Amino acid sequence: MRIPAPETRIDAFPHEMSGGMRQRVGGAIAVSGTPTILIADEPTTALDATVQAQYLSLLRDVQRREGLAILFVTHDFGIVANMCDRVAVMYAGRIVELAPVQQLFDSPAHPYTEALLRSVPDLDVDVERLYSIDGQPPALHALPKGCSFAPRCVDAHARCMERAPPMFEVAPGQRAACWKHDKNGG
Ligand code: SF4
Repeated sequence: MRIPAPETRIDAFPHEMSGGMRQRVGGAIAVSGTPTILIADEPTTALDATVQAQYLSLLRDVQRREGLAILFVTHDFGIVANMCDRVAVMYAGRIVELAPVQQLFDSPAHPYTEALLRSVPDLDVDVERLYSIDGQPPALHALPKGCSFAPRCVDAHARCMERAPPMFEVAPGQRAACWKHDKNGG
């Protein structure tokens, strides 16, 4: 994991290392058992932008070298764009869209994905107010009867309030849990 002077670092306490160094140690521990999959849950949250970029580059190198699969859990679309091949978008504890990364950015199929992408500020555009999704996510112990996103969805219609949509095939490799994609209509 490119830790400088590992023979002395091995005896160091965590408070004697930088945040980036601690992250590398965590990564080293994770890959030391030669796993086939690494679950990286918000792996760069505490890092500044420069260290984050270095750490992600390091993870990518390790992934290629070891033939690892890495499952990123993140809310950062920059990481998704740079690191991922396939994306699963989750809402209210459920996958609502699954797609190859480029397809997701080019043609999001679920209204929640569309709204999330709209929420990313465009630094080239001057706006009075940034976009945000109205409403709040539902409590997981009291999910709405139909589609969980319906109370916040601009495309919601009567059927959405009654039945939770299954996953529909939208394009090769892309699926979305939204009644808009039900080819049988109804
Ligand atoms: S099923 Fe209906 S409410 Fe749910 S995301 Fe699709 S259009 Fe919106």
